[in-house]
Amino acid sequence: MRIRMRGGRLHRPNATAMRRRIFISIFPFFLLPLGGCTYHLAQIQEPGRAVAFTTAGPWRSMIYAAKTDSGTIVVDLGFVGAGHRLRSRLRSIGAVPGDVTDVFLTHSHRDHIAAWKTVRGARFHLWMPEEPLLEGEKRHADVPSRLATSVFGRTGPRPGEVDLRPFSADTAFVVGSDTVRAYPVPGHTPGSAAYLFRGILFVGDAVARKPLRGYGGADPLFSMDPRMNRQTLIGLFARVPMERVRWVCNAHAKCSEPTERFIRKVTR
Ligand SMILES: [Zn+2]
Repeated sequence: MRIRMRGGRLHRPNATAMRRRIFISIFPFFLLPLGGCTYHLAQIQEPGRAVAFTTAGPWRSMIYAAKTDSGTIVVDLGFVGAGHRLRSRLRSIGAVPGDVTDVFLTHSHRDHIAAWKTVRGARFHLWMPEEPLLEGEKRHADVPSRLATSVFGRTGPRPGEVDLRPFSADTAFVVGSDTVRAYPVPGHTPGSAAYLFRGILFVGDAVARKPLRGYGGADPLFSMDPRMNRQTLIGLFARVPMERVRWVCNAHAKCSEPTERFIRKVTR
């Protein structure tokens, strides 16, 4: 917060600064449900070929990047310091941002899209209802997102700034000898999506993990419609080829094997 001295008198902070001060004072409250560490992140790494990592800031937002024989793909784009982190982790698999051909977004909350400028030459895939939210033509329904936007402004691209390729239904994207399978799973946000790639089911924030409860569906505080989230998760697990799923990872680096107990917990 900037306080300006003018003519030797201390002036009151402006409205934006006040909003920022209020937000920062209630910020820890929003962090409580999202705190904690990563789970089984080592299990989805492929040295030299694929890397999963978290960006800075308290949310531990995850970015996953994988080299294929037809370019590099990225799932989600992280939060604080994401651009710098993405560049350095791409180097670890022998890639640079210009090699990224396709970005798959689970949703457009600000803590999962921060590095979009770093890979702005890529095709950006997301489920159709999320497009106006990413491009700022609609606002997210959840209170923390609205507060953050009113205080810090929006962070996503403007219409036309990236090559958006919204999909309208379950879709399989062939990337060289790999396939990314995309599944709409609305509820956390209107256009939330899950992606299955090399045995990892990326579910974004459709699944949350809290310190005491463990895994569950999307966190109601940050979600548009928790009831819809549970229903669409039931549908997701009914149509994903589960024999191919080794790990289910949310967008905050919490991965679990898809046991019956896990599926029961996240869909109830
Ligand atoms: Zn989210």
